[in-house]
Amino acid sequence: MPKLDLIRENPFLGDFCAAADILKNVLHCPSISTFEEWRNVKLDSKEIKEVYVGDDGDEQGREFGKESSLVSGNLLYSLEHTGKDLKITRMAVFAHDEHWKNLLDYFDLCLDFIDVGRKEKGVLVHCFAGQSRSASMVIAYLMRTEKLYLEDALASIRQSSHVSPNPGFLKQLELFEKMSFKVDRSSPIYKRFCLKALGYLYSKDKKFDKLKLRTDPEISNESSSNGTTTYQCKKCKRVVLSQEQVMNHTPSEADLEFDAVFANMNGDVHNKNLGGEEQQCTSVFVEPLSWMNQVEEDLSEGKLLCPKCKTRLGSFDWSGSYCSCGSKIVPAFQLQLSRVDVITL
Ligand SMILES: [Zn+2]
Ligand SMILES: [Zn+2]
Repeated sequence: MPKLDLIRENPFLGDFCAAADILKNVLHCPSISTFEEWRNVKLDSKEIKEVYVGDDGDEQGREFGKESSLVSGNLLYSLEHTGKDLKITRMAVFAHDEHWKNLLDYFDLCLDFIDVGRKEKGVLVHCFAGQSRSASMVIAYLMRTEKLYLEDALASIRQSSHVSPNPGFLKQLELFEKMSFKVDRSSPIYKRFCLKALGYLYSKDKKFDKLKLRTDPEISNESSSNGTTTYQCKKCKRVVLSQEQVMNHTPSEADLEFDAVFANMNGDVHNKNLGGEEQQCTSVFVEPLSWMNQVEEDLSEGKLLCPKCKTRLGSFDWSGSYCSCGSKIVPAFQLQLSRVDVITL
């Protein structure tokens, strides 16, 4: 019996069978053949577009390649006409139901699509079981549309549906709440999520997605506006960092914020016990920047040299390193404060 629940007036949240019943038909991406095999039917479909992460020729592709933590070259989403007389529009994104899977970066795309569909006729949001992935998406939708806190959105949906997002997705919904129901890629909390995600992918693939290197502040104009703080190489005065590229941490505290999503990434040790004496941070931890050539070589750790005079400014380590305050930062792109000048315009 297909599982299909009406959430509010619309959208519906459902499982794979419900989708097959309604669509009688789906796409040629990995799931269309699955649908066809499942129901033994021939399904009509007509592609509207396919967008890939990091695709230079597409605005969304470009944006997601640079700013999200989704892997470049992967399908971002596909859009197609399907169903009877090709009257149904179907959008598909690809995410396994695993705690470390990035669902957050798909929120805005999917929620906008649900919004449009809901205004026009009706929307079915489905995955395989209708419990974790699609449920998370519908919860995010209710949070954004009705300005509900995660807890309230969950409670309201549980009356009509059996939902259970995995712990990683729940955490991402919590981040969505903290960002005021919008995936704000410039917010510190998003940047930390993004860097953790890149670190997690590195720990799996031993490879770093070069598109994710942040703009060198020397060549970006923003760094020169009034009131901004930049960091220069002490020796040659070359600008190497702007303040918004610093990833702040709380001194002497373990960074456990994302443990539900990226479990086991930090290992067992989170910080060093420094015997009660509070220690100053003698370095800053930053996003990986495009002048960090050593990072581009997919090495797991190495030195960070000034791009101009080649003085050593710090080091990086994908599996993390300790700050002088005792906090372990994972992954770590670390510049020694003794090697740079901090300048505020
Ligand atoms: Zn510190
Ligand atoms: Zn230098």
